[in-house]
Amino acid sequence: MNGEQRTILLTPGPLTTSLATREAMLRDWGSRDGDFIALTARIRSRITAMAGGEGTHSCVPIQGSGTYVLEAAVGSFVPRDGKLLVVVNGAYGHRIARICGIIGRQMTIYETDENVTPDPARIGKILAGDLSISHVAVVHCETTSGIVNPIEDIARIVARAGRKLMIDAMSSFGAIALDLARIPCDVVMASSNKCLEGVPGLGFVVALLDALDASAGNAPSLSLDLHDQWAALEKSGEWRFTPPTHVCAALDQALAEHVREGGVVGRGARYRGNCDILVDGMRALGFQTYLSDRDQSPIIVTFLTPSDPNFDFQEFYDALHGRGFVIYPGKLTRIDSFRIGCIGDLHEADIRNALQAITEVLEEMGVENRAPAPIA
Ligand SMILES: *Cc1c(COP(=O)(O)O)cnc(C)c1O
Repeated sequence: MNGEQRTILLTPGPLTTSLATREAMLRDWGSRDGDFIALTARIRSRITAMAGGEGTHSCVPIQGSGTYVLEAAVGSFVPRDGKLLVVVNGAYGHRIARICGIIGRQMTIYETDENVTPDPARIGKILAGDLSISHVAVVHCETTSGIVNPIEDIARIVARAGRKLMIDAMSSFGAIALDLARIPCDVVMASSNKCLEGVPGLGFVVALLDALDASAGNAPSLSLDLHDQWAALEKSGEWRFTPPTHVCAALDQALAEHVREGGVVGRGARYRGNCDILVDGMRALGFQTYLSDRDQSPIIVTFLTPSDPNFDFQEFYDALHGRGFVIYPGKLTRIDSFRIGCIGDLHEADIRNALQAITEVLEEMGVENRAPAPIA
């Protein structure tokens, strides 16, 4: 590591980035520079190609974190007289519903438990029963638990019902396949700082050209108007308002590394390797996962809080932090848990070192029983 200070972020983003990605931010760019315009175009075309959307879809980036692009997409693509069916099995589905409420789009919710995937047939029935629903939003990997939702089956049902699909692929894009050449989908939403391993600061959609065309005048916001943003980028190659130049430069480097790793397949395989080592190691220590292995994504793993009275999450977190590892609190509504991410510039040795640190910290804390309390 050449003496580089490396923080191991076992979180769902921001996450550990490569030295080259951080070094890409060491120069300043003018937003109207020809080379920055070329960089923006390269990012957009690489992301569109990664999603299998060449010729049919276009990547439109927007300043901000992932939530900004969710809000931009709901406002820009769901027309004022439209209605969104939000498929919910965690906090990020709820966030889309909340956005809908705030910007005043009609909505209905189909919710399942946080460890249960939505039933595509049920979605078909809801659509058949309510012809005013124009759009459906679903989260690909619900980062709340780490569950992967069956987006291909959902996409087919939504297309057959003649409605439009929006996928929040924030925590899966670039590592779990989502091929727009095969999956009918109007809008995919993601950000720079998850599986693409860039730094935080921009989100993007990969949207159907027809959907972008049809979205003029929908947005209730100036800065979050994706039609306007798209039109400006297509016309001049420039962002409408100050672009996050350094974030773009880092993403450009991160995307080159993604290609070098073998694209979505290569990146996904490394994360799956990280996840398997993590889950095996934690189970050997006596921990239990929240999800069944069948539903578990290779992105982030939820572990149930040990019942041992000596376990205290804050103390556990602080002790691991002191050893250079950052884990993540749980986000489940009813069950005590914590999460460990598998994504970022992390490799087998990093996960093994994290497991070693966890082993030491548990011993220090005197946590002998790592099994969770029985669920009441
Ligand atoms: C990270 C994430 C978001 C966006 O969160 P931000 O904190 O705004 O970047 C949205 N949806 C999912 C599924 C996510 O994992």
